[in-house]
Parts: sequence; structure tokens; C-alpha cells
Amino acid sequence: MSKKIAMSFLTALIILFLFTSCNKEQDIFSSVIITGDVENQYTLESYSEEFEWNQIEKKDIKYKGVLLKDLVNKSNPISDNFSILLMGQDGLMAKLNGNELDDCYIVNNEKGWCSVTFNHPVNSNIKGLESIVIINNIDDIDNSVNIISNNKNIFSITPGNFLLTNYKIYNYLDGETSVDQKNDIMLYKQKKVIPLNEITNNINRILVMTRDGGYYYLSKSGYIQLDGNKINFIIPEERIIYNDIVGVLINPPQTTVMDTYYDAEYYLKKNEKVMIVFVDGFGYHQYKYAMENGYAPYLTSLNEAKIANTIYRPVTNAGYAAMITGKPPKENGIKDRDGRQPLVPTIFERALELDKKAMLVESYSCAVNTGITPILSLDDDGDKYTDDEVFDNAKIALKENPDLILVHFHGVDDAGHCFGDFDNRTMEKIKEVDSYVKEISSNWDGKIILTADHGMHKKGDEGTHGFFRYEDIIIPYLIYD
Ligand SMILES: [Zn+2]
Ligand SMILES: [Zn+2]
Repeated sequence: MSKKIAMSFLTALIILFLFTSCNKEQDIFSSVIITGDVENQYTLESYSEEFEWNQIEKKDIKYKGVLLKDLVNKSNPISDNFSILLMGQDGLMAKLNGNELDDCYIVNNEKGWCSVTFNHPVNSNIKGLESIVIINNIDDIDNSVNIISNNKNIFSITPGNFLLTNYKIYNYLDGETSVDQKNDIMLYKQKKVIPLNEITNNINRILVMTRDGGYYYLSKSGYIQLDGNKINFIIPEERIIYNDIVGVLINPPQTTVMDTYYDAEYYLKKNEKVMIVFVDGFGYHQYKYAMENGYAPYLTSLNEAKIANTIYRPVTNAGYAAMITGKPPKENGIKDRDGRQPLVPTIFERALELDKKAMLVESYSCAVNTGITPILSLDDDGDKYTDDEVFDNAKIALKENPDLILVHFHGVDDAGHCFGDFDNRTMEKIKEVDSYVKEISSNWDGKIILTADHGMHKKGDEGTHGFFRYEDIIIPYLIYD
């Protein structure tokens, strides 16, 4: 009997020994994160079956290694042209060219994850890797977080490039714990930040926009903060954190595309009629240029438009929805080109509620469900533009005497995409729309609100929009009788 007990005791000891030694082996792993300018952060914590583990040998030591290239591909870099920063826990960093990774492996040993290279200099073998940071080498503000003003793209940065700047460390008070009221412990988290007022000065007010359509005014400056493959905006002393920003607009205009809803509602309530002239893809810089160069004689004869901003993302569906709902994307639900159905009432639905007659003259299709049936205008004469047809339909619609009518001219956006924002063919299109606006305005005895969903900027020989830059974000806004 005592022999049996001794045997099971021994078995238990062996199992315990095996268990702890297994654990010991697992302890070696720790984790390394692949981050920076990537679509997906990836954390490597073990000999994951997602990768091929190669037998490699260096200085007579055998390792199981994964190609750095395989790890990098797993995280989807935002461009093909990148560098890699290998960062050790001891603060040591090595920068490699993203095209020369064929001889670089990541292995695990008693120091944690380490890089082993064969053709690179010996100091690119970093021990105790904490992170592998992808750094986009292409100077492309459309792939960056941008600090802009009404007329300038001031500063651009990506999460990867953040680490190569002279960022600051902010000791962020993360919490307080106390066991017995006597021994309070303050918990800090070190955050990598750049103060906004080191990027630009004379900041009175800012407008922060986030990738998910969030839209926030602040009367205080703060910091942009690195957070893995994202950048946040923080005001630590006020405990304000906006995650994953697309940019900050410094000293934003007082007027926005969303004012369309409230101004239209205001006049309807006063029993004044309202016509909204929606010129698609018409940036404030194009409006100014057209006036200065004789492409907008009618607009030049009116009061000058206010400088206004649209929302992120500056594309038709999102800009249109903000215009007719008065709410930013995060609230109205339309953040991008694929959203159609607003979650909040549109100005058309509001007009019906006020017992008003509402009409909508559209181009070839309607990007957003407005709550009323649009009058569509197809390119009947085959000139590749619908503005002439929209103009004809608008004149017919005006005869029905609506209280609210929105007329959507799409040609300036179409031409802008083909030729760029300042091209004279785009300007000629603005001039044509200017003449249509003149005529429909003369047939209207109510208020007129003229604005745009977004602007346009040049890319190569063409034009595009949809990015946090002043050319796309800043638009004209004009009310006249
Ligand atoms: Zn548009
Ligand atoms: Zn467009």
C-alpha cells in the first residue's frame, strides 16, 4: 500500500516536473508586434502555424526562424515602398530597406524574439524585439494623418514615420490605486506625442475628425499621439481622447455643409421658399480661382461665399447626407461611398412635416435616400454630362412652385475627376453651371443656398477627392435672395 502511494507520488512529481519545464520553454516566447503603416497589426507570440518555420544556423547555433518578409506581408503594409524599424526592448533600433529582407529571419531564444540577418551588418541583429515597425516611404498625404488650415495642408504624418520624428513622451496619469488610503499608487502610461502647437501656432479653435465619421470642435489645443498603427488626438488634462483620427483642421470656418439643413429649415418655418443649389465637387479654392479668372461671372456678381468645411470622408454620399441631415457621418450613418440610408430625418422629410412641397432634381442617380422621389436627369444628348438635362428639369420643376427644391449639378465633379481641379476644361464646366445657376435663380422668388458636398485635388493628370486635405474639405457656402 505504501509502495503504491510512493509510486503515485513519484508520478505526480514527474508530471509536475514536465509541466513546469514545458512552461519554462514557453516563457521564452514573449511577444513582438508588427505595426506602423500597416492595415492590420499582428502580434507574434509563439511558433504560429500560420507561418513556415525554417531551420537556420548562425555561428553554430541552430534556430527555428520565420522570414521577416512573411511576417510583414501578414500585416499588409499600406504601400509597397517601405522601410522597417526593428525596435529592441533596450531602445536599440535598426532600420532596414523593405526590399532587402530575403536574408532576415525572426527567431526565438532566451532573449525573446530576435532578428538574425546574414547579409546585413551585424548590428541589425536586434535582441529582445519589442516591435517591428513598417514605415511608409512614399510622401503621400492621402495616406497620412494631416493637420490643415482653410487654405493649406500644414503637416502630414503616418504612424510609422511618427517614430522617426522628435516626438515627446507624455507621462499620462492612467489611474490611482489605493489599498488602505495610506499607500496611494499613481499609475502612469507613457504616451508618444507631438504637441499641436509645435506643428503650427495661433491656434484658437480646432476641429478633429476621426476615421469613423466623428466630428469634434475643441477650444483648446492638444497632442497627436501614436497608438500602434493609428494616431489619436488627446488633451490629457481634460481626459479627452479621440481615437484613430484622420486629421485636425486648425481654426476651422464658422460655417459647415451641415448648416444647409438648419438654414433651409429656418426659412421654411418663416414661410420663405428655399432652393438648394448643390454643385458637386466644387472646392472653395476652385470657386475663388473661377471668380478671379472670369469663369464664374454670375457668382462674382453676388456676395462672396463663406468659407465652409465639409465632413470626412469628403465623398458624395457622405457630404450629401451631412448637407441634407445637418448631422456628421457618425450620427447620420453615412460615412463613405457605400452608405445610402440616413439614420436621421432629411430636410425633405422635415419640409413635408412642415406641410411644404419638396422637390429634388438629380443627375443620373441619387446617391442618398432622401425621403422623396428624385427627378432623374439622364445624359439624353450624349455629351457625357448631365448638367444641361438637370438645368432643363429644374426649369420645369420650378413651374410646379415647390417650397423646397434641391438642384444637384454633377458636371463639375465629373470634369474635375477627368482633368483636375484647376484645368480650364473643369473651369469651363464651372462657367456653364454658373450660367444655369443664373437662370434658375432669376426664376426663383425665395432664398437660394449654394454649396458643395466636397472639393477636388489634382492627382497625376486627373483629379480625385475623399481625403483630409483642404482642397477636398473646404467648400463655398452662399445664401442669397
Ligand atoms: Zn460629389
Ligand atoms: Zn467625385
